[in-house]
Amino acid sequence: MCLQHDFVFKCSHRAFARFDNCPNLGRTCYGAGGTHNELYVPDICADCKTRPFDPNPLGRLNDPYLKRKAIGGGAAGSGSGGGGGGKN
Ligand SMILES: [Zn+2]
Ligand SMILES: [Zn+2]
Repeated sequence: MCLQHDFVFKCSHRAFARFDNCPNLGRTCYGAGGTHNELYVPDICADCKTRPFDPNPLGRLNDPYLKRKAIGGGAAGSGSGGGGGGKN
């Protein structure tokens, strides 16, 4: 019996992973059928990552303007206080 493997992402999206076909495919076997092996991925899919304007509340947290502002403020703060930053 063939077996299809699917990636199942944190965002509940699915993606085809791979297909293991058996020697009987086309003779006595009719493919993977409805039984797919699920490979859980502890991350959101690439499609969701490249969609910054997704209409959900989490998407707003990843606002690129807010992030840039935060990085700028942090760099100025550490610059005045840091100095060498070497280890003893
Ligand atoms: Zn098969
Ligand atoms: Zn997704």
